[in-house]
Amino acid sequence: MNKEISTYLAKCGNCKQIFAHPSLGDFAYGEIIFCSIDGQQYTHASAFSEFAQKISRLMPDNSSDFWDVIASLVDSIEDRKYSPHIHCLFCSSDNIEFWEGERIGVMNVSEASFLAAAALPEHELKLLVAQICECINNK
Ligand SMILES: [Zn+2]
Repeated sequence: MNKEISTYLAKCGNCKQIFAHPSLGDFAYGEIIFCSIDGQQYTHASAFSEFAQKISRLMPDNSSDFWDVIASLVDSIEDRKYSPHIHCLFCSSDNIEFWEGERIGVMNVSEASFLAAAALPEHELKLLVAQICECINNK
């Protein structure tokens, strides 16, 4: 499902360019927008989807990596990888000086799909989740 999501100004701390990014603001408990790590695409996801709930059961309790793991499992379109952080549209940096600045419009954001990860047998998915967590924590 596509969603019309308000966009706001952000400024890159690396290249200093200003760009628009969609944000759900404070009214979206359990919802998130992922940004592709090249800064070009956005997709939205919910913590309450069947898939997200399954991932949450496979993760250690109190892990803070939930959204990073979910972002890593988004079906990649044109080999794009996704992140729970904003990435600069111009230089891909996630060093963002400010975000959620002036509201400037709306953007049509597609819902993230997880077909590839959801098709994995449970033990493989569990292994994959553990690998992603390890990778995040070694950064
Ligand atoms: Zn930049």
